[in-house]
Amino acid sequence: MNNLASPEIWFICGSQHLYGPGPLQEVENNAKEVAKGLDNSSAIPLKVRFKALLTRPDEIYALVQEANHDQNCAGLILWMHTFSPAKMWIRGLASLTKPFCHLHTQYNRDLPWNDIDMDFMNLNQAAHGDREAGFLHSRLRLNRKVVVGHYSDPEVQERLGVWARTIHAWHDLQGAKFVRFGDNMRYVAVTEGDKVASELRFGFEVNTHGVGDLVAHVNAASDSDVNALLDEYETSYVVAKEMLKGGARRDDLVYGAKLELGMRSFLKEGGYKGFTDTFEDLHGLRQLPGLASQRLMADGYGFGGEGDWKTSALLRAIKVMAHGLDGGTSFMEDYTYHLDPMGHQVLGAHMLEICPSIAKGKPSLEIHPLGIGGKEDPVRLVFDAPAGDAINVSLVDMGNRFRLIVNEVKAVDVPSLPKLPVARAVWECKPDFKTAIAAWIYAGGAHHTVYSYPVTTEFIEDFATIAGVELVVIDSDTKLREFKNELRQNDLYYALAQGLRV
Ligand code: MN
Repeated sequence: MNNLASPEIWFICGSQHLYGPGPLQEVENNAKEVAKGLDNSSAIPLKVRFKALLTRPDEIYALVQEANHDQNCAGLILWMHTFSPAKMWIRGLASLTKPFCHLHTQYNRDLPWNDIDMDFMNLNQAAHGDREAGFLHSRLRLNRKVVVGHYSDPEVQERLGVWARTIHAWHDLQGAKFVRFGDNMRYVAVTEGDKVASELRFGFEVNTHGVGDLVAHVNAASDSDVNALLDEYETSYVVAKEMLKGGARRDDLVYGAKLELGMRSFLKEGGYKGFTDTFEDLHGLRQLPGLASQRLMADGYGFGGEGDWKTSALLRAIKVMAHGLDGGTSFMEDYTYHLDPMGHQVLGAHMLEICPSIAKGKPSLEIHPLGIGGKEDPVRLVFDAPAGDAINVSLVDMGNRFRLIVNEVKAVDVPSLPKLPVARAVWECKPDFKTAIAAWIYAGGAHHTVYSYPVTTEFIEDFATIAGVELVVIDSDTKLREFKNELRQNDLYYALAQGLRV
C-alpha cells in the first residue's frame, strides 16, 4: 500500500505506591507479559510496546506529552493492574491528543480458589481499579474504546485488533494530503462540505490543482514506462482484442497507460494519499481516467468521483483499516434498483471507477463510449463483485458536524449483465430494503459510498469515536421510528457537545 507508515501502540499500566516496591515490580513484570502477549497476537497488526508503569501525576503528564509528540505512537492501551487513584490522571489525560483504548483485563485468568489470600487480592484488583479509571474517563468526557476480558481471549484480541486497525487509519489521516482535479460536479449538494472543519476534525487537508498540472505529468510519460505498463495490463487482465498490439483501439489503451503513469507521478511527487476528478473538467485530457483511477484505488489511494473529496478520504481510511485482510474495498455508488417483491436489490456501480480489489476473478479490460463529458471513449476494467457480507459507508457534512452512516448489506452473485460495460456489485440491505433505504434517506446519506467486505461496522464505530463524529448504523436491528428519533436526539447532542468549534 502506498505511503503507509507502521506506527506502534504504547501499553501503559497504572498503579500507585501504596503497595511498596516489591508488588510494584511484580505489577510491572506482569504488565510486560500482557503487552508481549498482545504484541504476539496475529489479530493485532501493529506493534504493542510496553511503555511504562505509571504511579504519579507528573509521570502520567510527562508520558502523555511524549505520546502526543511521538510521530510513531498511534495510540495508547491503558490498564490498571491495581488501584490507581484517578485524580492522578486528570492533567495528563485532559491533554491527550492520541486515541486510547481502556483494556479491562487481568494478569491471571482463573482465580486460585484454594490459595487466594489478601496479597493476591491486593495485587490483582483491576476489577475495581479499572472502574476508578473508567469513572474519570467518563467524567472527562473522553472518547475511548473499552475492551473487557482476559488478554489471551481471542475475542479480546479481535476487539483490540479492530481498534488497532482503526487507529492505524487515524494515524495515516493526520496530515494526509488529498488533491482535487477540478471542483465538484456542478450543483451537486452532498459532495460539498467544509474543508476547514474536516481538517480540524479528521486531520487531513484537501487542496485543488488545475487539471493542466496533471496534463503535464501525463504528457511526460516515457515510451518505455508505457510499454512496461501495457505488458502488465496483459498479464493482469483479459484485454479486449481491439486493444491488443495491432488492434484498432490500441492507441486508446496506450493513452490509458499514459494517464495512469501521469497520475501516479503527480500523486507521488505531491505525497498525496488520494484524489478526486470530475468529468466536467478534463481540459487537456483525452479520456476520463477510468482504468487509472481503478488501479490507483487498488494500490490504496483514496478516490471520489465528481469532486467528492469526503468519500476519497474515507476510502483511504477504510483501505488502511482493511490492509492485509481478505476481501476488497471500493468507491461505490447506489446506481439502480431491482424492486421485485420477492427480493429487493441494489445494483451498485459507477461510470467507471470501481476498485478491482473487489473483483471476483480476472477483470476484463475494455473500451466503450461514456455518453457524458464529451471526451474520447475511456478504457476501464469490467468485473463482478463477489457475494458476501459487506458495508456501505457515507460521510456527510450536516453544517454543524459530520455524520457517518453505515448500512450493513449482503452482496449476492451478480446476474449475467452482457450489455453493461462497467464493474458492478449487487446487494440486499439489512434489515430490509425499504427500511434501510428510508433510514439512509432520512439520515441524508450520499449516493457515493465506501463499500467494503472486510471492514465491519465496529471499525467505523471506533473511527467515529476517535474523530468525535456522529455515527448512525442501519443493520438488522434498525427500526425506522427509533432511527428517526436517534437522528433528532443526535442533532441536539452534537450542537451541545461541540458548541461553536465545529
Ligand atoms: Mn458518482
